[in-house]
Parts: sequence; C-alpha cells; structure tokens
Amino acid sequence: MTPRADTAVLPSDALVLGVDVGGTTIKGEVTDGAGTVLAVGAVATPHGTAAFDAMGELGDRLLADLPESDRRRVRRAAVVLPGIVDTARSVAVFSSNVGWRDVHVGDRFTERWGVPTLIEHDVAVAGWAEWRYGAGRGYDNVCVVVLGTGISGTLSVGGRLVRSSYGQVGEYGHVPVRRVGGLPCACGNTGCVETVASGAAIARAYTRRTGRETSGAAEIFALMSTDPDAAAVVADAVDALADGLVGIVHAACPELVVLGGGLAGAGAALTEPLHRALSDRLRLVPAPRVVLGEFGARAGLAGAALFARRGALT
Ligand SMILES: [Zn+2]
Repeated sequence: MTPRADTAVLPSDALVLGVDVGGTTIKGEVTDGAGTVLAVGAVATPHGTAAFDAMGELGDRLLADLPESDRRRVRRAAVVLPGIVDTARSVAVFSSNVGWRDVHVGDRFTERWGVPTLIEHDVAVAGWAEWRYGAGRGYDNVCVVVLGTGISGTLSVGGRLVRSSYGQVGEYGHVPVRRVGGLPCACGNTGCVETVASGAAIARAYTRRTGRETSGAAEIFALMSTDPDAAAVVADAVDALADGLVGIVHAACPELVVLGGGLAGAGAALTEPLHRALSDRLRLVPAPRVVLGEFGARAGLAGAALFARRGALT
C-alpha cells in the first residue's frame, strides 16, 4: 500500500530526505532532527522530464548510503521544484529553465523511495524557511526577497504565508519598473525588476558600461568601493529593487525585508542602500528593516528538509 503523505509534524528522532531542484544542479540531503547531514549528494540537472528520473536516482543513492538502522528512520521526503508548481494536483506545471510542462508527479517518489513525499515550489519553501527558521523568525509580517539568477520571494502577513490558489508566490522580479526605455524581459514584458537587479542583469549592465567582461555580480559587488562604474551599476539595481518593492510595502507593511539567495552574499553593500532607498520612497508607512537571510543559497535545500519535517508551510 502507498504510504499516505500525511502532514503531521514528525518526531525528533525521524530522518528526512530533502531534494532541491535547480536550473543547473539537483541537490539532496538526508538530515536528522538537529539538522545534522547524514547523506548528501548532487547531480547536474538534465533538460526536460529526464530531470525527474535524475531526482529519483539521487534520492535512491542517498537512501542507499545510509546504514539500514538509519534507513528505517527516514519518515518523509520533500522535493522542491522550480517554475510553476500546482501542489493540489501534484503537477509540475512549467519550468522554462529545466524545460518541462505539465508533468504529473503524483506518487512516483512515494512509491520509489517507500516514504511519503511532498512536492512544493522552491521559492515558497526557501522564503518560508527564511521567515520561520532564518532571519525572519519571530516576526509575523515579513517579505523575503530571493535574489539570484532571477528575483522572486514570499510575503507573510499576520503570521501566514500568502499563497495564490494555485501556489504561486512573490514574482517580485516581474514588477515593471522601467516601462519607458527599459530592457526586454524573458517574460515578454519590458523593464521588469529582473532586467536591472538580477545577478545576470548586474553583470550585463557593467559590461555594457565598461566593455569589460566579469565572472558575475559577486565580482561587481567586490569592486564597488574602488570602481565608480561598479558602484553606479549596483546603485541602479538597488533603485529598481526599491521601486519594485515599494508597492508591496504599502500594501502589506512588512516589519522586515529579508534578502536571501545567492546575491545576498553582497551583505551590507545591498541591505543598507536598499533600506535608504525604501525610506526615501515611503511617506505614510514605516520603512521596514532590511536584513540578510541566514540560509543564503542553501535556503531551498534547508527548507526542503524543514518542510519534510513539518509537513506543511505553516
Ligand atoms: Zn519580466
């Protein structure tokens, strides 16, 4: 009989398997109640629906790595997926990065691994983890912005994660902020936040301005204090991010904005100017504090384990 993916909180002696599917890498971990990693692995993400076979094989391998006594303690798994995920119907609806459309996940992992397996949207899980267990813990009204290749995030209001009826959350990267004279966005619109403030956009803007290629946004953050072009490019990104967030701040009045994801490694070079830019734009509502996430680029994987353990994004 197929085990039921019940949503009760697991006992502390249970182990969980978390799998985080990214555009380039699928990562997995088996962890205990204290977060100690007992098995870990990663594989390159194949294009298209083959990615689901790779997720299955990675999970097989991690479970097989465990001694039998530990294997029996694995009580639940969670697989977090990019793109659009319909958790109610258990369908991976669309991922432009990995290249799948309408893949029914159903019980495939539950049957393969022999433990109840939940699926969720990677951003929802990463944002929830930062809010409940990372930099946002203890606050009821928190906007988490996940900065990386793209820009997205979550919003928690009154102690609840805001979700649409089909699971979509904070597409902050596609708020248009440069409609006149802006760059085309991969989504089809013009001048979205992502066209100015994503890691790739920051690197491209620096190259356009200086003619110099870089290894990516991290290099430009590192150059800021000595290179006026780098400082100008980051200032423009902060400006676009603040314009994109100001409507959300007016609508929900979060106490805290948490910057997560890979780009948040820039630290105070991002949090302080963003707080200033928001303060400059706000008259009627208080400017939220802007802090760094605690999980960084690991939020998806750490969140998958926490979600598997808790059983729900509550
Ligand atoms: Zn867009």
